[in-house]
Amino acid sequence: MKIGVLGAGQLGRMMAISGYPLNHQFGFSGNSLDEPAALLGHMFALEDNADYIESLVAFADVITYESENTDVDMVKEINKDVVVYPGEKSLFITQHRGREKALFDQLSIPCAPYQMVNSLADLKKAVKDIGLPAILKTATGGYDGKGQFLMRSADQIKEAFESMSGVEFILEGFVNFKRELSLIAVRGLDNDHKYYPLVENTHHNGILRLTIAPAQNINPEVQKTAEHYMQTLLDEMEHVGVLTIELFETENGLVVNEMAPRVHNSGHWSIEGANTSQFENHVRAITGMPLGDTTPIHAFSAMVNIIGKNGPTEIALNMPNAHLHLYDKAKRADRKLGHITITADSQTQLATSIEKLKDFLP
Ligand code: AMP
Repeated sequence: MKIGVLGAGQLGRMMAISGYPLNHQFGFSGNSLDEPAALLGHMFALEDNADYIESLVAFADVITYESENTDVDMVKEINKDVVVYPGEKSLFITQHRGREKALFDQLSIPCAPYQMVNSLADLKKAVKDIGLPAILKTATGGYDGKGQFLMRSADQIKEAFESMSGVEFILEGFVNFKRELSLIAVRGLDNDHKYYPLVENTHHNGILRLTIAPAQNINPEVQKTAEHYMQTLLDEMEHVGVLTIELFETENGLVVNEMAPRVHNSGHWSIEGANTSQFENHVRAITGMPLGDTTPIHAFSAMVNIIGKNGPTEIALNMPNAHLHLYDKAKRADRKLGHITITADSQTQLATSIEKLKDFLP
C-alpha cells in the first residue's frame, strides 16, 4: 500500500525503514525538501508545492501522522478522501491535556488531580484546591517538557500565570513518583491488541535520555494493570495503530501522566530489541495486516538518545551489542539527532554497556 505520513521527521523515517520489507511505499509532507524522512519516499513539501497536502492525499491509500499536534480539522477533511489512522477521536483527545484527563476520569484511570485554568482567579482557586507543588502546563502543543511551570510556593502564582498568558492551560498536582514508565501497545483494524513490556524512562530537563526495556523489577500485576488501562483507552477511542501511555510509578500504584497516538521515543529499543518493532506494528495496523509479536528478544534492551550534537558515535559502532541510528538532522541544542540501542543478556552487561555510552548521557 501507499502510506502517506503527515510529517517527515525521524518517526516517519523509521516507519518507512520498517515498512519497505512489507512492500509498502511511503510519502511524507513537510515544510522543506530536506527533512529527515525526505529521502525515504516521495516528499511533498510546502517549499515547492503550495498544494502539498492535497498531493500527499492523492498519493496515499492510507494516511497516518507523526504528531498529536496535527490539525484535527485538516484530518477531518482528509478523511473524506482517504482513511486516516489513528482516527479523529484519538487525535482530538490526545492533543489536549484537559480532554485526555477527562477521559482518564471517565474510564477510572488514575491521574494527577487537575483543574483547567483560564484566568488568574482560576489559577488561585486551582492552587487552593490542589495544593503545592503543582505544575502549570499548556493544554495543547507542549512537548519535551516545554510549556510547563513548576510552582512550589504561592508567591509564584502571578509569574506562572504570566509565563503562560494567551493560551489555555491546566494545573496538575505534583506526583511524587518513584520512576517514570511507559507502555506502548498497538491495536489492529480487526481489534487485535498487542502490548510491549513496560519500560523505564529517565528524563533530563524534560527530554527523554535513557529507556530501559523491560523496566526492571516490575511486578506482573503492575504490567497487567497498565495493560488494562491501555486496553480501555484503545477500545474507547477505537484506536488503530500504536498508542503510548506515559505513567508514574508511585508508592500507591500507577498514575497515568499523558498519552500519544503514535510511535514513541521510548519504543525505539524495539527495532532491535523485540520480535516486531513499534514502527512495523504501526505500519501493519494501519494497513490491515496481522499484528506482529511484541516479545523482547533479549533479557534487556536500552535506548540512549543522542541530543544536541552527534558525539563519539564510534564508541557505539565498536560495541558488538549496540546499534546506531542517526536521523540526518542538523545539530541544535536539545534536538533529538539520533539514538543508540543496546541489547544485553544480563543486568551486568546492560550496566557496563550503558557506562560505555556515558558521554551521551547528562
Ligand atoms: P509531560 O510533558 O507531561 O510528559 O511532562 C514532562 C516531564 O515533567 C515528565 O516526564 C515528568 O518528569 C514531569 N512531570 C510532568 N507532570 C508531572 C506531575 N504532575 N508530577 C510530577 N512530575 C511531572
